[in-house]
Amino acid sequence: MEQVLTPRRQFADRPADRVLTPADTPQAEDCPPFDPARNYLGKLCPRGHEWGTTGRSLLRRSNQGCRQCENERRREQQAARR
Ligand SMILES: [Zn+2]
Repeated sequence: MEQVLTPRRQFADRPADRVLTPADTPQAEDCPPFDPARNYLGKLCPRGHEWGTTGRSLLRRSNQGCRQCENERRREQQAARR
């Protein structure tokens, strides 16, 4: 009688080994969270402020303006005024 052991089977069914990796949720990594009620991802703005690696800009729903552009403009105005 010949008995062949197949140790591989031990690894076959171990659901504990299956851990959720970032690759399973691609959106979470290249698209930082934002408030969809106020903002949305639209065309890349003139200054090219990309949101994460989505290739789009985060725009304000109220005026379709890029939020990072607003921040920069505000900072520039403050610097100019002094
Ligand atoms: Zn911008």
